[in-house]
Amino acid sequence: MKVLQGVAAVSLAFVVWAADAPTEGQRWWSRVAFLADDKLEGRNTGSQGYRKAADYVAGEFERAGLRPAGTDGYFQPVKFNSREIVERNSSLELVRDGKADVLKLGEDGLIGVRVDPAKSVEAPLVFVGYGLTVPEMKYDDFAGLDMRGKIAVYVSGGPSAIPGPLSSHYQSAAERGKFLERAGVVGTCTVFNPVAMDVPWPRIALSRFQPAMTLDYPDLDESFGQKLGVAINPAHLDKWLAGSGHSAEEILALAKERKELPRFPLTAELRAKVEVKRSKVESPNVVAILPGSDPQLKDEYLVLSAHLDHLGIGEPIHGDRIYNGAMDNASGVATLLDIAEQLHETKPKLRRSLLFVIVAGEEKGLLGSKYFAAHPTVKPEQMVADLNVDMFLPLFPLKILTVFGLEESDLGRQVRAVAEPMGIRVQSDPEPQRNIFIRSDQYNFIRHGVPSLMLAVGYDKGSPEAAIAKQWLTERYHAPSDDIHQPVDLKAAADFNKVVLKLAEAVANQDARPKWNSDSFFRRFAKSE
Ligand SMILES: [Zn+2]
Repeated sequence: MKVLQGVAAVSLAFVVWAADAPTEGQRWWSRVAFLADDKLEGRNTGSQGYRKAADYVAGEFERAGLRPAGTDGYFQPVKFNSREIVERNSSLELVRDGKADVLKLGEDGLIGVRVDPAKSVEAPLVFVGYGLTVPEMKYDDFAGLDMRGKIAVYVSGGPSAIPGPLSSHYQSAAERGKFLERAGVVGTCTVFNPVAMDVPWPRIALSRFQPAMTLDYPDLDESFGQKLGVAINPAHLDKWLAGSGHSAEEILALAKERKELPRFPLTAELRAKVEVKRSKVESPNVVAILPGSDPQLKDEYLVLSAHLDHLGIGEPIHGDRIYNGAMDNASGVATLLDIAEQLHETKPKLRRSLLFVIVAGEEKGLLGSKYFAAHPTVKPEQMVADLNVDMFLPLFPLKILTVFGLEESDLGRQVRAVAEPMGIRVQSDPEPQRNIFIRSDQYNFIRHGVPSLMLAVGYDKGSPEAAIAKQWLTERYHAPSDDIHQPVDLKAAADFNKVVLKLAEAVANQDARPKWNSDSFFRRFAKSE
């Protein structure tokens, strides 16, 4: 999953190993073990390790009798611009009355390079609350402010008055970018909201040395005139707010309660110097079709998507430099490969076709799926739904299924019809402030009108399982320890894979194509309704 931002500690679930695990769980695990092996070097987009992983997936598709559906066999090559910060030649200073306070990069904040930075930027800072514009709610943090040529400082998240999906949608880079550009903002400083930080600050800080990427296609450029993107460590926010009459304690307490935030100019200007090393890389999406059997419906495709890329080789943590990405997201790719193999073995008649889409560049900002959704290898209107699998975390038995997008389309009814008879309770996203519905590849299908779901092993708030999941995020998410030496519940993985398979079969066979619910915010993207 794409990182936004965490906290906690103690003992983990135990592993259900060979003795009592069903065969499917072991087959799934062997695929995870292959993809998350050190030899694949963390499958970074553009790397040799990613290429090996893509070759493996294509080989598995072929073995499962799937038809190639890329532009080059099973592959759809995607081009990326890659950027790395040269931090020794970069700096951030807060300038007040001509006096410069040099910030410590990695400690006070960091310079992100997903936005291609200008060599130097010097501009006044304005605190704009959540930095959010939501036209439907007549909510605008920029209203009445002259932001031209200025840098917007805001806390990630949104006030509770704005429903979760709207808040998530307008926080996406593509949507926020439009409003920043309209306001004339030249750069942003995002204060990570402590309540929504999946990862502790020190690990966020280390990630600044990973290459950032954008798609290398003019029609898919989303830079919105931005010259600088900075992230602020909430623990050091007071340095930024000095002299403004506001404190970090005040701002973060309001943000925690999702209350309205004040807007005010900061007393400092920000002076940034940035050196970046730029290069171009290419990595393929891997695409395959299992043809449907119904003469009409076979021209409709149920998309099954998962991202193959992870973070590659990076800064060492406890001496380990390889970010293997076993759960993120070798696990989801392994699930789809398992489904392909099971369908090959049992050969059920599916009325619609299945389109397996294994993508690159997810960790860089959902880029491979963005490219695929803009340039699908089937007709766009033929994609009837997307089921995305990303980091479903089988860390404890599958008793509850969390379904992102549950209330948005009639896929929600279908998932209940499949899971509930298996004794699994279905729930919607218990933590909407983490923005998960827009943080993985389904979002690019949603933006093209395709009803979508993402599923994960769920838990009740405040339960021991919730603590295990939280601890996993704190310790292993986007860390080298998300590798094959971690406790995983194979039975839970096998049960999860069964749910996804049954759901895929049910959607492929239902009479009508899936539809957005009439009250769903995301229905606006549907072209045919
Ligand atoms: Zn991730």
